[in-house]
Amino acid sequence: MSNKYDYIILGSGLSGLLTAYRMANDAWFDDKSILIIDKEIKNQNDRTWCFWEEPNGEFDSILSKKWEKAFIGNQDFQQSFSMYPYLYKMIRSRDFYKLVFDIISSKSNFTFEKDEILSWKTIEDSVEVYGKNQVYTSNFLLNSFFDVDPILNQKKYPYLKQHFIGWFIKTKTEIFDDSEVKFMDFTIEQNGNTRFMYVLPTSKTEALFEYTLFSEDVLEKSEYENAIKTYLENLGIKDYEIVEKEHGNIPMTCYPFHQQNSERILFIGMSGGWTKASTGFTFFNSKKQSEKLIAFLKSNQNLTQYHQKNRYWLYDLILLEVLHQNNEMGAQLFGTLFQKNSIQDIFRFLNEEGTILSDIKIMLTLPQWLFIKATFRALRKLV
Ligand SMILES: Cc1cc2nc3c(=O)[nH]c(=O)nc-3n(C[C@H](O)[C@H](O)[C@H](O)COP(=O)(O)OP(=O)(O)OC[C@H]3O[C@@H](n4cnc5c(N)ncnc54)[C@H](O)[C@@H]3O)c2cc1C
Repeated sequence: MSNKYDYIILGSGLSGLLTAYRMANDAWFDDKSILIIDKEIKNQNDRTWCFWEEPNGEFDSILSKKWEKAFIGNQDFQQSFSMYPYLYKMIRSRDFYKLVFDIISSKSNFTFEKDEILSWKTIEDSVEVYGKNQVYTSNFLLNSFFDVDPILNQKKYPYLKQHFIGWFIKTKTEIFDDSEVKFMDFTIEQNGNTRFMYVLPTSKTEALFEYTLFSEDVLEKSEYENAIKTYLENLGIKDYEIVEKEHGNIPMTCYPFHQQNSERILFIGMSGGWTKASTGFTFFNSKKQSEKLIAFLKSNQNLTQYHQKNRYWLYDLILLEVLHQNNEMGAQLFGTLFQKNSIQDIFRFLNEEGTILSDIKIMLTLPQWLFIKATFRALRKLV
C-alpha cells in the first residue's frame, strides 16, 4: 500500500482541478501531500465552459472568447441586451486543464495517478480508496465523482436535466455576428417542454449551436441533431462543416447533496451540489465554492460542517417546482423574466449576488398563480 496522503481529490475535472489550483496557490497547503486521481488524462477539449462575470476575472488569461451582447427571445418577445458590466466568457476545457496541470506539476507535494476508482470507505482516522491498480489512503477525501442514484432514489425534490447536443460548425462565407450570443432562443418548437437554441459565434465563420432542454427525459440523439439542422436551414445556413460535437446532461435539482458528506469525505462539484439548480450552470458557482472550500479546510473543521444553506436554495426550488410542474411554460417564464427585469439584475440573481429586495422583485415577476402554488410546494419540503 502506498503512503498516506493528507488529501485525495477524486476527479481531475472542473471541481477537482479548481480545488487543486487553489491549494497549489496557497502556502498553507505546501506541507500537505495531495493526490489527484482520474481514470483519464485530461488534455482534451471535452467541455466548453461559459459564464458571465465582470471584466478582469481570475481566468481571463485563458478565455477563448468573450461577448458583450446577448439575445433572448420567445414567440412574443425578442431582444438583444448589452450585458455591461457583465461579459459572457468562454473557456475551452483543454486550456483550463493545461493551466492547472502546469502549476501542480511544478509542486512537489502534488501527485497524479491515472486509475479507475471502484469504491472508498472510512476506516478509523483514514479514508481508503480502492482503484483498479491499487489502494490509496488519506486523511481526507474530496470526491467529484457524480452518481445519479441518490437523486433517483428519492421523490421529494424535483429532478430536471439540462440536456443538449452541440455542433461547432464552420462556414465558407462570413455570416455570424460574433459580438452577440444567442443566450436562450425559445422561438423554436417547444413540444411540451422547455427547449431553446443556444448559439455562441466564436468568429464570423464559426459558431457553436446547441439544442438544449430543461426537462425530465433525454431525447434520441437524432432529435437534437435534426433540430440543429432545421435551425440552421431556417437561418439559410446550408454550406457548413461540423468541426466538433459536444453533449451534456447536467442535473437540475435541489436534492441535498451534502447529506452524503461525512467527517472525512466531502463531495464537490456536480456531486456536491455545486451546479446551480435552476439553470445547470456550474462553472461560476464552482469557482466560488472552491474558494470557500479552501478557507474551510484551513479551519480544520469536521467536513460535515462545510455545507450552509442560503436563500437561493429556496428560490431555485421554487423555480424548479414551476418548471417541473409546467415544463411547457419555460419559454414564457424565461421570456417574462428577461422582459420585466434588467439582464444585469437577472445575472446578479443567478450568480447569487443580489440583495433580498432585488431577489424578491425578480421572483415576483413570475406569473403569480404559478409562483404561489410552487412556493407552497417548496415550503412543504422545508418541514
Ligand atoms: C459538454 C458540457 C458543456 C458544459 N458547459 C457548461 C457551461 O458552459 N457553463 C457551466 O457553468 N457549466 C457547463 N457544464 C456543466 C459543468 O460545468 C461541467 O459538467 C463540469 O465539468 C462539472 O465539473 P465536475 O468537477 O463536477 O465534474 P467533471 O468535470 O466531470 O469531473 C469529474 C471527473 O471524475 C472522473 N471520474 C469519474 N468517475 C471516475 C472513476 N470511477 N474513476 C476515476 N475517475 C473518475 C472523470 O473522468 C472526470 O474527469 C458543461 C458540461 C458539459 C458536459
